[in-house]
Amino acid sequence: MLLTTTSSRLVKPAAPFLPFSIPSVGSEEIRELIAVAESGWLTAGPRTQRFEEAFREYTGAAEAVATSSCTAALHLALRALHIGPDDAVLTSPFTFSATANVIVHCGAQVLFADICPKTYNLDPGAVERVIREQCRPSRQGWVATLRARRRLRAVIAVHYAGQSCAMEELAALAERYQFSLVEDAAHAAGARYRGRSVGTLGQAGCFSFYPTKNMTTGEGGMLTSHDSSLAARARLLSQHGITRDGWQRYSTEQAWEYDVVEAGFKYNMTDLAAALGVHQLLRLNEFVDRRRSLASSYDRAFGGRSDLIIPYEDPRAFHSRHLYPVQIASKRVSRDQFIQALRRRNIGSSVHFVPLHLTRFYRERFGFRRGDFPVAEQAFERIVSLPLFPAMSDDEAARVIDAVAEILDGGVSP
Ligand SMILES: *Cc1c(COP(=O)(O)O)cnc(C)c1O
Repeated sequence: MLLTTTSSRLVKPAAPFLPFSIPSVGSEEIRELIAVAESGWLTAGPRTQRFEEAFREYTGAAEAVATSSCTAALHLALRALHIGPDDAVLTSPFTFSATANVIVHCGAQVLFADICPKTYNLDPGAVERVIREQCRPSRQGWVATLRARRRLRAVIAVHYAGQSCAMEELAALAERYQFSLVEDAAHAAGARYRGRSVGTLGQAGCFSFYPTKNMTTGEGGMLTSHDSSLAARARLLSQHGITRDGWQRYSTEQAWEYDVVEAGFKYNMTDLAAALGVHQLLRLNEFVDRRRSLASSYDRAFGGRSDLIIPYEDPRAFHSRHLYPVQIASKRVSRDQFIQALRRRNIGSSVHFVPLHLTRFYRERFGFRRGDFPVAEQAFERIVSLPLFPAMSDDEAARVIDAVAEILDGGVSP
């Protein structure tokens, strides 16, 4: 419908706001939530166990431990690897703060290496350069000598936007320099690498079920591993370091008996969250297929433009398309002007991510400076994530495509 204004200019009625992401929670999930509420067992219990079993089956991981968030899973993974104040952990600066915060929570030193300009994932060559420049070989492994001597114990590989890191190259470095590989698969539920589920390629994988992610439990996460002793330690630490979990504690004969073997955390999932998770997991492939199909529409629409850099797909990876990040390479329109122009057209967007080495805490604590990771910095200057979620309609995608063309072709003036 078109409205005629007094100046007889044609003005379209404002389209409703299109957010950057909306979760898809269906009637199955809602029925299951009610069933949990009526069952009287709200915290970790039978549904959490079912969700863990289903997640093991889906990913092919030997072990799965459901947690309150991906942040919790990452923290547990590092603690289960016994990472502490004598250690260093390397990761990408182009990630959400949680990835590096958990290194700090272990008392360990944060090292960053720059990213690949095409995939935005850790660049294995840059990882090796950081190790060669900042670490020395010792009998215990490679030791970072900046300020204090700390042994490089782990690399956290972030599968940015849902595309697997170059895992063969990273695994070769892990072998050569004797560190563990932890996967931050927050974006990558449903993603694969050479046919294998991400999150099962290193010592531990950590998934997020936050509402914007590929599937949701409200808040929640999952730690996967092939190592049963690592998983057992993570589970113990997720429940206060108490030797028997709550479910067993209230259902065995000696209900009161327990021991505390370590000062653990309160990081378990609840059955309310798992009720969502069980049904969301059944729909995950369908969600990822829809994301991939919308991303293909964007690729087709934007692929020929020289003022927009679309995501690169590594042929080894099956991309879960959690995000659709583009770089604004226009001479006339800056990234921030582009975001404002989208907003004026009632279209949401987001920026992933502010490089962590430019944030105040990481600058002040570890002495990082602008210029340290130029590829991440250059990507950040121009990057923006367009709306992408499974419930997005073809019409909504077309609205985004038209708006992008209008903004870049016409400049930013209204
Ligand atoms: C969302 C996110 C996390 C944290 O997930 P939570 O479940 O919210 O704790 C970690 N890493 C990355 C890359 C993320 O995007």
